Amino acid sequence: MDKTKRYPVNIVFSYLMLSSSWILFSDLAVEALSNDLQEHAFFQTFKGLVFIVMTSFLLWVLVKKNNRDLESANDLDSVTGLHSPSVFFRYLKKRLKSSDTSDRYILFLLDIDDFKTIADQIGFENTHAFLKDVARSIELPVEHQLLSSRVHSDGFASLIKLNDTEQIESHIALVHRRFSECAYRYDIAATCCIGAALFPSDGNNAKQLMASATHALGQAKKSKNAIEFHDPKLTELERHRQEMVLELRKAIDEKTLEVVFQPKYNIKSKLVVGVEVLSRWTHERYGVVSPEVFIALAEEHQFCRDLTMLVLEKTSHQLRTCGLLGKELNSVSVNISAVELNSVDDMDYLDNYLRRDPDFARLLCLEITETAILKDIDQCARAVQKLKKQGVSFSIDDFGVGYTSFSIFNKLDVDEIKVDRSYIKDLETNYRSRAITSGIIDIARGFGIHAVAEGVENAQQLAILETLNCEQAQGYYLGYPMPSQQLRESLTSETEPCSIA
Ligand code: C2E
Ligand code: MG
Ligand code: MG
Repeated sequence: MDKTKRYPVNIVFSYLMLSSSWILFSDLAVEALSNDLQEHAFFQTFKGLVFIVMTSFLLWVLVKKNNRDLESANDLDSVTGLHSPSVFFRYLKKRLKSSDTSDRYILFLLDIDDFKTIADQIGFENTHAFLKDVARSIELPVEHQLLSSRVHSDGFASLIKLNDTEQIESHIALVHRRFSECAYRYDIAATCCIGAALFPSDGNNAKQLMASATHALGQAKKSKNAIEFHDPKLTELERHRQEMVLELRKAIDEKTLEVVFQPKYNIKSKLVVGVEVLSRWTHERYGVVSPEVFIALAEEHQFCRDLTMLVLEKTSHQLRTCGLLGKELNSVSVNISAVELNSVDDMDYLDNYLRRDPDFARLLCLEITETAILKDIDQCARAVQKLKKQGVSFSIDDFGVGYTSFSIFNKLDVDEIKVDRSYIKDLETNYRSRAITSGIIDIARGFGIHAVAEGVENAQQLAILETLNCEQAQGYYLGYPMPSQQLRESLTSETEPCSIA
C-alpha cells in the first residue's frame, strides 16, 4: 500500500481502536466507581465530555498537520525543486539570528543574463529543464551548502557556511564555471552574473546581508558574465544616501530649502525677459548639496510634488515681497520633474494650487526635462492644456541630450525650447555643437516657439548665438543664480538697468 493510502487507513484504524477501547473501559470504570444512579448518570455525562474533548484535540492535530503539509508543498518551486523564496528568507533569518559573530557565511545571488532571449531560443520545455540544471549547478558539492532557492524567474539565491574565508572566491568561481558547463550542455551562449555578500562583515542580519548581495548583483549586472563581491564602502554610501533622503524630507517639511533666481535675457534687446528658479539646499553637515543629487533623490522617493509646491510658494512670496512680480518680471520659470507630469494626481494638485494664485500662474513657465520618460503622452498633453488655460506656459529643458526627440513638439503644446548647455560650452570651437544649436534654433522657429540657450559663459558664445538668431540666453556670463533681494537690486539698479554687462 502506498504512503498516501496508508496514512488515512492508519488514522481510521487508530480512531476505531481508541473509541472502542474508550467505550469498553470507561463504562467499566464508571460502574466500578459508583452504584448510585444519580452519580452514575453524572459520570456518564462527564466521560462523554472527556471523549468529545479528546477527539476534538485529535482532530485539531490532524488539521494542523495537514495544513503544514500543504504549506510545505507550496514551499517548493515546481520547476526546479528548490525552496521557495519565503522559505529561504525565513531560513536565512533564523540561521543568522542563531549564529554568533565567529560564524562565517556567504550569500550569493545568481541572475541569468538576457534570460528572455534564451527562453525564446530554446523553447518552453527546454527552458524548464535548463533552469532545473542551473538549480543543480548552484547546489555545490560542499558539505556546508545550506539552502538554495529560485527567488524569481531567472534568479537564484544560495547560502553557504564557510570554514575559512580563503574558500570564498573558489566557491563562487566554481558556481560560475558550473553554470557555463550547464549552458554548454544546452548548446546556448548563456551567461550569468553573481553578486555575493559575507556574514557578518557585509550585514549581520538577513535583511542587511540580502541588501548587500542585491547591491553586489546590481554592480555585476552593469556588465555581463560578471562576479561582484559586496564592497563595504558601497554599504556606507547607501547608508549615507538613506540618511540624506530623511534629511531632504525634513528640509522640505521645515521649508529650509531655498530658491535662487537666474535671469534670462533677450539677446537682441539685451533686456531681462524672465528668471529661472533654481532650488538650493545647504545642509548643516553635508554643506551645499547639488540639485542634481537631491532632485534625483526627490524623484526616487516621490517628494517632487512637495518640493515643487515649496518652490512655487517661496517664489511667489519672495518675488511679490520685493515687488518684482508682474512688474520687472513677466516670466518666471520653474523646473518640474517628468515624474510629476506623469502623475494625474500631481498635475491636478498643481492646477488647484495655481487656481489660488492666478496672478502668479499667468507668469509661470514650467520647464520639463527627460520627456522621453513621459508614460502616457495623451494624458500629459491633457494636463498641459488644463494648466495652459490658467496662462501657464511650458518649456522643454536641456534639449538635445538624453532621449528627448523633436516628436515631442507634435505631442505637447510647448512654448519654449532650451538648448542644453553642453552644446553652448564649446560653441566657439566645435562646429558640430554649432550645427546642432543652429538646427535646434531653426526648428524652434519653424514651430513658432522661443529658443533659449543655457549656460552662456562668455561674450563669444553670446555673439555666435546672436548670429544664429537665437532669441534668448541664460548663463554665468549674463547673470549667476541669485537670491531675490540681489535680483531686485540688479533689476532696479539705475546705473545698469536690467541689461547685459
Ligand atoms: P536646469 O534646469 O538646466 O538649470 C540650469 C542649471 O545650469 C543650473 O544648475 C544652473 O545653476 C546652471 N547654470 C546656469 N548658467 C550656467 C553656466 O553658465 N555654466 C554652467 N556650467 N552652468 C550654468 P543647478 O542649479 O545646479 O541645477 C541643476 C538642475 O537641477 C537644473 O538644471 C534642473 O534640472 C534641476 N533643478 C534645479 N532646481 C530644481 C527644482 O526646483 N525642481 C526640479 N524639478 N529640478 C530642479
Ligand atoms: Mg531648467
Ligand atoms: Mg537646463
